[in-house]
Amino acid sequence: MVLAASASVAQTANPPDVPVSAKARAIHDSALIVDTHADTPQRFLDEAFDIGSTDPNDIGHISLDKVRRGNLGAEFFSIWVEPETNQGHFAQHTFDLIDSVYEQAARHPDRMMMAFSVADIERAHKEHKLAALMGIEGGHSIENDMHLLRDYYRLGVRYMTLSWSNTNEWADSSGDINDPKIQHHNGLTDFGKQVVLEMNRLGMMVDISHVADKTFWDVIATTKAPVIASHSSARALTNAPRNMTDEMLQAVAKNGGVVQVNFYSGFLDEDYRKAMEAQNKDQTAAIQKYVESLKAQGRPVNYIEVNRIQREWMAKIPRPPFKALIDHIDHIAKVAGIDHVGLGSDFDGVSGATPTGMDSAADLPKITQALLDRGYSADDIKKILGGNILRVFRQVETVSREMQAQSH
Ligand SMILES: [Zn+2]
Repeated sequence: MVLAASASVAQTANPPDVPVSAKARAIHDSALIVDTHADTPQRFLDEAFDIGSTDPNDIGHISLDKVRRGNLGAEFFSIWVEPETNQGHFAQHTFDLIDSVYEQAARHPDRMMMAFSVADIERAHKEHKLAALMGIEGGHSIENDMHLLRDYYRLGVRYMTLSWSNTNEWADSSGDINDPKIQHHNGLTDFGKQVVLEMNRLGMMVDISHVADKTFWDVIATTKAPVIASHSSARALTNAPRNMTDEMLQAVAKNGGVVQVNFYSGFLDEDYRKAMEAQNKDQTAAIQKYVESLKAQGRPVNYIEVNRIQREWMAKIPRPPFKALIDHIDHIAKVAGIDHVGLGSDFDGVSGATPTGMDSAADLPKITQALLDRGYSADDIKKILGGNILRVFRQVETVSREMQAQSH
């Protein structure tokens, strides 16, 4: 618990909050706010975390209380299956994570509901409940099986990130694209293209966050519906291979899709990214040492503990200013257009490494304030906060209905 305590001290030691004006608060509270990526399901499953928690010492980004304070209307919970430790049972772990989201909604029916469509999100908003949606992070979850893909859709999964940091058997990832030990496919395989088209037909949004550049271009050439980047930022500002080049941003705009900005410091700030790169070897060694010690004792790897080690290392690097996040939103709004940018926080998935002032969903109103300060109109701010992703989701639903009508 020592490490968790030191992390919360680091948070309170940050510069004072961005004050949110009454005008910004009013705009923010009148918006339907959608975030497209939070890794909280791992907390539900591995820590037995209850989203209803009001523990003031909890350093998580998401709770129903924080959601209410930040006026977050809909969250896409990430169904992420770690590919090394779940070898041989990707689907089983996918189902377990999906179950964990349903269980939270069942526990808090007064403040949270499962949602599967734009109409559901709007209904939840009217009822002042958090709309809980799900996105699978990593195509390995389908185990190369189109039947499983359809089962996930039936269970409510409404987007799938084609790859996580690992290349799977049908899509190259940006995470290992330069690793010669990995067998790559020069983008998407023929099966991968079928997956994209089946997702279009089902009405599951195609998510290009994490994929290799060539995979991205293959997706753009294949898809019949707008795509999303559920949690990616701009490579022109921060040179992470996971971020999107200006050419990619323009291609998403042409495709009618949306890029949801990731709040992770390593994707928002070049100095932070370089500092991370510099400590990468030592951090990996520290985690490796922990994993080996568990193996020697015959015990399974505990991801909460791994996360705690990561947090400790990341806390050594100074946090970038809040403005780094706004710079990325601003850049994408300028390069792709105001209709093609939104929020994909990566809350609870970045080991606490977010810019100063962004410590949980309760801090979302500061984004509205900062955009207002940069001259964005209320209408444009509402597009960024949720309007754009809802437009894309609606369009994906329409394309799905059209494709299904054609196949009759
Ligand atoms: Zn991710």
